[in-house]
Amino acid sequence: MLKSLFYSVLWNKCPQCHEADVFTTNKAYDLKQFDKMNESCSVCGLKYEKEPGYFFGAMYVSYALMVGWFVITWIADSFIFHSETWQYLTFVIITIILFMPLTFRISRLIWLNLFVKYNKNTIVKTTN
Ligand SMILES: [Zn+2]
Repeated sequence: MLKSLFYSVLWNKCPQCHEADVFTTNKAYDLKQFDKMNESCSVCGLKYEKEPGYFFGAMYVSYALMVGWFVITWIADSFIFHSETWQYLTFVIITIILFMPLTFRISRLIWLNLFVKYNKNTIVKTTN
């Protein structure tokens, strides 16, 4: 299951068939289009936004990712860099802003993968 999740999230692939892209572009830093999603999978027909507001839940995933980033950088700072508080906070705020397009996409893909399981037979079923 984790292997499937990582594949789908890292390569922007449909969580059900792993064939078609979820976001219209693979460039996370194309700031005009990084948030544009396909409505459904062109291979298996999975509708990505199941209901209005479906991706509000991805904000919880985004929050968890950010907390993880805070903890990792805080531990690294405490034991390795020993910087001042204002330096640490500046670093964290700047990196969060820089990572925002990536975080947005990753959290939506993780959210989708939490509810849709990979099924390699999906493609066969739809072509019959
Ligand atoms: Zn699909």
